[in-house]
Amino acid sequence: MRAFYIGRFQPYHFGHQEVLEEIARECEEIIIGVGSAQLSHTFSDPFTAGERILMVTRSLRDLDALLYVIPIEDIRRNAVWVSHVMAMTPLFDVVYSNNPYVIRLFNETRFEVKSSPLYQREVYSGSEIRKRMLRNEPWQHLVPQAAIEVIEQIDGVNRLKEVSREDKTSDLGTL
Ligand code: NAD
Repeated sequence: MRAFYIGRFQPYHFGHQEVLEEIARECEEIIIGVGSAQLSHTFSDPFTAGERILMVTRSLRDLDALLYVIPIEDIRRNAVWVSHVMAMTPLFDVVYSNNPYVIRLFNETRFEVKSSPLYQREVYSGSEIRKRMLRNEPWQHLVPQAAIEVIEQIDGVNRLKEVSREDKTSDLGTL
């Protein structure tokens, strides 16, 4: 069985990791879509697709499933987004998502969509982690070690702080 799971992974955290470990117990192969792949260097989307691919792939090094990590850019037409995803990925049998918007779009094209519990969503959340980075609060315990290393290598926290200052003046991003 081959599964599809998409996220922005801004950054990749233990909530994503829990879901993927659960999927790996049910499916031999997992396609991980790195969504909004065109975005980077904003408060909401600070990390590039390549940086997120590193975070995901390295964090899942020991997962017992064959992984395909594929960047997927957004398109401006939701009605054909599922076709866009399918054009970029190997065929898949089932979709895993907890995002209502993604679930709706796949359900409307008759895909089976499975959801899982939200794991400590108040802290395992990209926006919460980015806010902690901005405020110099602890965030490292919410993210796998491999993702911490990627963020440190690219000076990610300082990037986030700088683009957030820029975001405020140009009104490009919000908390
Ligand atoms: P995300 O990284 O916030 O979350 C990824 C998945 O993990 C989601 O299913 C989310 O519910 C789940 N998750 C997050 N925290 C969790 C936790 N603590 N416990 C359990 N599950 C948790 O990414 P996202 O924003 O949901 O990614 C969806 C992507 O799909 C975006 O890039 C979006 O732009 C893209 N998309 C694009 C279009 C289009 O281009 N028209 C349409 C639909 C979706």
